[in-house]
Amino acid sequence: MAIATVNPTTGKIEMIIDPHSSAEVDARIGEAAAAARLLRTTTFAKRAEWMRVAADILDAQAPGLGELITVEMGKPIAQSIAEVEKSAKAMRFYADHSEGFLADIPLAEPATVNASRAWTRYEPLGVILAVMPWNYPLWQVIRFAAPALMAGNAGVLKHASNVPQAALFLDTLFERGGFPVGSFRTLLIGGADVAAVVADPRVQAVTLTGSEPAGRSVAALAGDHVKKAVLELGGSDPFIVLPTADVTAAATTAVRARIGNSGQSCIAGKRFIVHADVYDAFAAEFTRQMSQLIVGDPLLPQTQVGPLATESGRDDIVALVEDARDKGATILTGGTIPDGPGWFYAPTVIADLPDDARLVQEEAFGPVASLYRAVDVDEALRIANQTRFGLSSAVWTNDPDEEAYVIARLDAGAVFVNGMTVSYQELPFGGIKASGFGRELAADGQREFCNLKTVWKA
Ligand code: NDP
Repeated sequence: MAIATVNPTTGKIEMIIDPHSSAEVDARIGEAAAAARLLRTTTFAKRAEWMRVAADILDAQAPGLGELITVEMGKPIAQSIAEVEKSAKAMRFYADHSEGFLADIPLAEPATVNASRAWTRYEPLGVILAVMPWNYPLWQVIRFAAPALMAGNAGVLKHASNVPQAALFLDTLFERGGFPVGSFRTLLIGGADVAAVVADPRVQAVTLTGSEPAGRSVAALAGDHVKKAVLELGGSDPFIVLPTADVTAAATTAVRARIGNSGQSCIAGKRFIVHADVYDAFAAEFTRQMSQLIVGDPLLPQTQVGPLATESGRDDIVALVEDARDKGATILTGGTIPDGPGWFYAPTVIADLPDDARLVQEEAFGPVASLYRAVDVDEALRIANQTRFGLSSAVWTNDPDEEAYVIARLDAGAVFVNGMTVSYQELPFGGIKASGFGRELAADGQREFCNLKTVWKA
């Protein structure tokens, strides 16, 4: 794939960028390695000062950066600006909290191990490679980079090939804040060039957010080189609605959960599993709201659903919907490509899916919702857990016993009760099963790329 900005609203090439040569990649990894040696002896206070300046730069440029994101990958402009602001907020959060998250942990009774003192300390690993996707081109990177750099690591970024301008902005952001030169470096390379970077002895670990095939490939490479890997892959999150729920509120939130980022989010509610007692009411309200969404130019403030980021992404969505239609599913709304340029797809709700429809097992990375009717809570759980994914989930109920029952039985990295999944900087984020392993965000995410060093003293 060429490294280029192709505007998804028009299909026009805005900019083609030459990839880095292998000599440039080598030099950039060298800069990151030199920065990592410096960073490990800097104080939390100093890193926090640099991080806050970088956050101020993001905030000051939010409108322009928001527009850049929208032109590169089609996100509605208000959501693009919100992404910039969320990223700046996370940078300040890690500036404030990293010293506490990574404080030494003393053993309370060192005599039990024949020591006068024993403790563990979190040390940076060195250079971490981040392979990142286009769907949140700033946030996905910042949620790795802010905690990693605050821990004293350096980062090298292989960003998705369709967001090179975001990648180049990130290349200098931390340096502009005051971090040592090379603390964060973008590598303009294709997926095939990642293997050499993982193998590079100056690179200590890798994190990847993206598709399952990309995750498998990078995790295998990391395994070959005995390097730590964190994977945040796809999801086909269940959103369960049970009879005691506020059905109208659930339907309204379900639309937001499905349609954010024009449906291109790993943690979007994608499969709506509704108890038979409230199924008809939920389906009617959900379909009504999905059919009324404003689809159009993502640079216009009123637009709620923009184009899909890539033509191939839309092709994938069309194939999933047509497969369901051919196998007898009911399309309650949507299922069409709007006239005109750009990679748009109408917000779609599909019911009565046969078991062999691809949508039952596969992730729909676009504005397509599947509806399932469950006769009781156990059937809802069976449907929820039947995919290979296990990223996040939601359940709507006002029965405390039922709430506890469902929380304990959902196979997922998170459960949101009477709400929708959001990635909060304060909460660990990640999945199980084919959604990956390891965690991002919060103290647990920050510690993934640290050496937990045990110290014993006679
Ligand atoms: P990819 O997984 O292909 O891309 C994500 C990142 O991985 C990009 O930087 C990409 O680079 C890189 N990459 C791809 N293949 C490899 C490889 N074999 N080795 C190393 N790096 C690789 O996602 P797509 O953009 O193709 O999206 C397809 C699907 O991925 C979606 O339908 C969705 O299921 C999932 N996805 C999940 C996301 C999430 O947030 N969990 C985000 C985006 C996608 P390059 O762009 O150069 O190919």
